[in-house]
Amino acid sequence: SNNKYALSSGTNLLRSIPVYGQVSTKPRAALISLVRNSELEGLIQSMRQLEYQWNRKYQYPWIFFNDEPFNDEFKAATQNLTSAQCYYEVVPKEHWSLPDWIDEGRFMNSLEYLGAIGVGKGWMVSYRHMCRWNSGFFYKHPRLREFDWYWRVEPDVHFYCDIDYDVFRFMRDNRMKYGFNMNILDDARSFPSLWSRTRSFINAHPELIHPEADLDWLLDAHNNGDYNNCQFFSNFEVGDLNYFRGQANEKYFKWLDKGGGFYYERFGDAPIHTLSVAMFVPKNEIWYFRDIGYQHDINRHCPSQSSHRCSCEPTPIDENFYKLVPLESSQKKPDDTCIRQFLGGP
Ligand code: GDP
Ligand code: MN
Repeated sequence: SNNKYALSSGTNLLRSIPVYGQVSTKPRAALISLVRNSELEGLIQSMRQLEYQWNRKYQYPWIFFNDEPFNDEFKAATQNLTSAQCYYEVVPKEHWSLPDWIDEGRFMNSLEYLGAIGVGKGWMVSYRHMCRWNSGFFYKHPRLREFDWYWRVEPDVHFYCDIDYDVFRFMRDNRMKYGFNMNILDDARSFPSLWSRTRSFINAHPELIHPEADLDWLLDAHNNGDYNNCQFFSNFEVGDLNYFRGQANEKYFKWLDKGGGFYYERFGDAPIHTLSVAMFVPKNEIWYFRDIGYQHDINRHCPSQSSHRCSCEPTPIDENFYKLVPLESSQKKPDDTCIRQFLGGP
């Protein structure tokens, strides 16, 4: 198997980056965050750490997205945390509303049902719009036309380690299309039809599946090849916007969207990005950022190498301390098995 994924080779590529001359123009890249005015405190937390650990050295712009206008307090407080440029964007209404082919009654039933059985945020209308926007619309926002790369940042996340290289240059110079640093198993009751719809997409468009794609790590060997629900935890992701804007991903998104799964079920952007990337991207263009110490809610990834100068206790890949935490069925569970399967390890 590809030794790029060998557990010990994590930083080899990182050391061979500096390439001067034409290819070394700064990538057209931005930190992007969908966030509410009311989440300013949490965003300050995330921004402060990412600026300190990384962006103060690289000065990539921040782009904030919201379904309503940002207020002055939000703008002043965020701009105050960075010397890079900040943009404040409103999501177009047509990217954040019920499509006309959705049956409202059926949608209401789903809100009620997923709420009643306790699927996380299953009862929230805004959560459905959010998942759909992150799946198929963020890369269509006019502000992102002038950019090729994004790094997604959520409020209330943590960045624990010094990051001493340009992550966007790394992505570009190594021809990566998608980068992640944690995997989870989300509540599968939120997307009962996702796998059958995906299979029917594959049957309808076999030509779109990349010859070097690897879906095996997403298949459940014990359950006749069903989806095993492994997902890149998409609140951290670094990606190639042109990949998402490309026809394979776009066709796949439209296929799912027409089926109504964002509203009749609670399709998340995490499984959708995962399946998209797994189908349409060669596996060696997907990068595991094991060096980036990160936390979202109870899910934490802390690198073990001391060289990263991290302020967290290492969470070795095969020793998951979250297993000790009692989890509600609706909580997203971190899962090392998924990472191991992705890496092709034992
Ligand atoms: P979770 O991580 O799956 O629990 O979802 P979150 O509630 O953290 O939402 C994911 C991201 O979308 C976060 O960055 C939120 O700030 C953002 N978000 C979710 N709902 C809304 C919304 O209605 N409006 C705006 N502006 N942002 C939202
Ligand atoms: Mn979140």
